[in-house]
Amino acid sequence: MDGICKNYVLADGTVVPILKSVDLVVDPGEFVAIMGPSGSGKSTLMNVLGTLDRPGGGTYLLDGEDTNLYNDTELANLRNNTIGFVFQGFNLLPRRTIIDNIALPLFYGGEKYKERIWRAEHYLGQMGLSKYRDYLPIQLSGGQQQRIAIARALAGEPKLLLADEPTGNLDSTTSDEIMKLFSDLNAEGITIVLVTHEQDVARYAKRLVHVKDGEIIYDGPMY
Ligand code: ADP
Ligand code: MG
Repeated sequence: MDGICKNYVLADGTVVPILKSVDLVVDPGEFVAIMGPSGSGKSTLMNVLGTLDRPGGGTYLLDGEDTNLYNDTELANLRNNTIGFVFQGFNLLPRRTIIDNIALPLFYGGEKYKERIWRAEHYLGQMGLSKYRDYLPIQLSGGQQQRIAIARALAGEPKLLLADEPTGNLDSTTSDEIMKLFSDLNAEGITIVLVTHEQDVARYAKRLVHVKDGEIIYDGPMY
């Protein structure tokens, strides 16, 4: 990211700057925690990183590709091939089974049925949750549901995992389990950028980026 800006225009026409010329480079294999007060622009930054939202100004290269040069369809393809998302609220489809929840996004990636199921079963197994294959999300605990969401993200075989407050709905023991899982995934080579409020969660990352009022005020080793 080079000089990334984002403004919101309020109903009365007031322009509110949310990201103010953010410069950020994340190299392959890094594990970065983004911290900062509520309303500081962390989720807005994550949405730009994830190409879910376009910046108002500046340049963002994802996997070396200048996202400004991509139209929305091309950008969706680049995103599908590059990024896995994990959210605070798990975002599982309530009326779909666990295996369907993991396999369904692969349908939009154009994978064939057999490949979708094979991959979904593989990543469900990696999470140690194979026996819940045909359950519904509500039948699982919060920690289990987040592991399903992580399996869903991994099934796309992303280079980059983006997680916005992934432990925000979990107790501290379960949070630690999820963060150990992220550490293991990072050790296997996946790049991770995570937003969190909690120092206990952030300390699993190797690099800390501190955001305040839409600006990076610290970027360096985890302390
Ligand atoms: P954080 O994730 O750090 O809590 P956000 O990125 O969600 O912060 O929001 C940063 C600021 O942008 C907040 O002040 C929020 O109210 C504002 N904001 C977010 N989305 C919109 C929007 N669609 N319209 C106007 N303001 C917004
Ligand atoms: Mg947020």
